[in-house]
Amino acid sequence: MQVVTHKLSNWLILFCLIRASWMTAQVAPSSSASTVIKAGGLLDPRTGNVLSPAAVMIEGNKIKQVGSPSQINSPAGVTVIDLGGATLLPGLIDGHTHLFLDIIVPNEKEQDRHANGLFAPGMLLAIVESPSKRVLMAAQLAREDLESGITTVRNLGHSGIDGDTELRDAINAGRVPGPRILASGRKLIALGMYVQNLNPALADAIVQQEFLLIAGVDRAREAVRQNELQNVDVIKVSADENLTVPELASVIEEAHRQHLKVAVHAVDKASIQTAIEAGGDSIEHGNDVTDEQLKQMRDKGIFFDLTPTFYGGGYLKIAEPIIVISPPTRAERARSAELGRQKYDALVQRVLKSGVKYATGSDMCWFYPGKTRGQASTLTFVHLGEAGMPALDVIRAVTINGAEMLGWEDRIGAVEPGKFADLVAVSGDPLADITELERVRFVMKGGAVVRNDFASHPH
Ligand SMILES: [Zn+2]
Repeated sequence: MQVVTHKLSNWLILFCLIRASWMTAQVAPSSSASTVIKAGGLLDPRTGNVLSPAAVMIEGNKIKQVGSPSQINSPAGVTVIDLGGATLLPGLIDGHTHLFLDIIVPNEKEQDRHANGLFAPGMLLAIVESPSKRVLMAAQLAREDLESGITTVRNLGHSGIDGDTELRDAINAGRVPGPRILASGRKLIALGMYVQNLNPALADAIVQQEFLLIAGVDRAREAVRQNELQNVDVIKVSADENLTVPELASVIEEAHRQHLKVAVHAVDKASIQTAIEAGGDSIEHGNDVTDEQLKQMRDKGIFFDLTPTFYGGGYLKIAEPIIVISPPTRAERARSAELGRQKYDALVQRVLKSGVKYATGSDMCWFYPGKTRGQASTLTFVHLGEAGMPALDVIRAVTINGAEMLGWEDRIGAVEPGKFADLVAVSGDPLADITELERVRFVMKGGAVVRNDFASHPH
């Protein structure tokens, strides 16, 4: 009797196991599901070659095979997505963004009344308002980035204490849609940067919500460890004349010990020199870089992260629809935009000529009237083309180069077997017209279709 019962319970267990595995297969089919994407062409940013026609086989969240449609052996039951004559390229990488800022340009008089008056009032509001409000806004901006084809971003500061690390984890867990995020946590700064004239009774509490202060090499090391507690992917530090080379070197040494790269905000010549001497991994912005410094960066393998956010009069495009601009200010802004354009055009040529490694970031932190965050960000990639960078090099900046700058060249940035299935497609030829990057019509992240405009329109 006992033996029979035992046998019966074995059968029951076996039955339950089979049923459980069948149910698991029903619930999570994506782990082994295969998809084949067919398109008119596939651009390889590494070589500039276009495979035409092209097919990409995806298994789970990774790319399995790439070739002409006849070379791809599709297993039975595979899902085929035919994009007609579209051109496929790797998912776009924004090397420098701020998903937790959506600053509305203050009116002119308000700007005049503050230190860093264009940026500081909006940033302060973002810090002191509800973190819940802020993270929900960031979730929207993350989704908008993804819908425009940006499948990976590096979020470099301005996200509260744990905003970007938590948003990253929520996206990875499938709770909200968004790009892959490399999160920096709080930005490391020297005292006196970014926020001034605060109420002394509240100043420390406000600053600590957004920044980690560096004062001396020990505090520098401690700041990196504070961010490590939040499980950051990268360290962002701002260099200016307040920061010494030993302080920055201490940040970098501690970060590298934890296998974290260090992105150094540096705009003027002195800060750039500090970043180079301390051995940063990338220099953000870098607008005033000299040819000698570009040479030093090239020799040390430091990335130049170009941020042509306001190129070609971007400020007026952002400000004019929402604030009153007086005629003298408009004239002055237009003049400085033209000077800025000439200087940036020259910078792009000097960067290309120097042989320094480069990538790009939108540095988008602005409410851009009439555009989603994704549209505003991809526009800055197009700015690089307007500044004279050849289309293929722009595409490299937002794919393979960006991946290398992030240290993720083994995962993203190319349509190759073994990489994440992060792909975008455009209707036209992006090598002939770089503005195609503003009109991404198909987006796949990790094997899941985010957007497919080709499905509803016959091509
Ligand atoms: Zn920035």
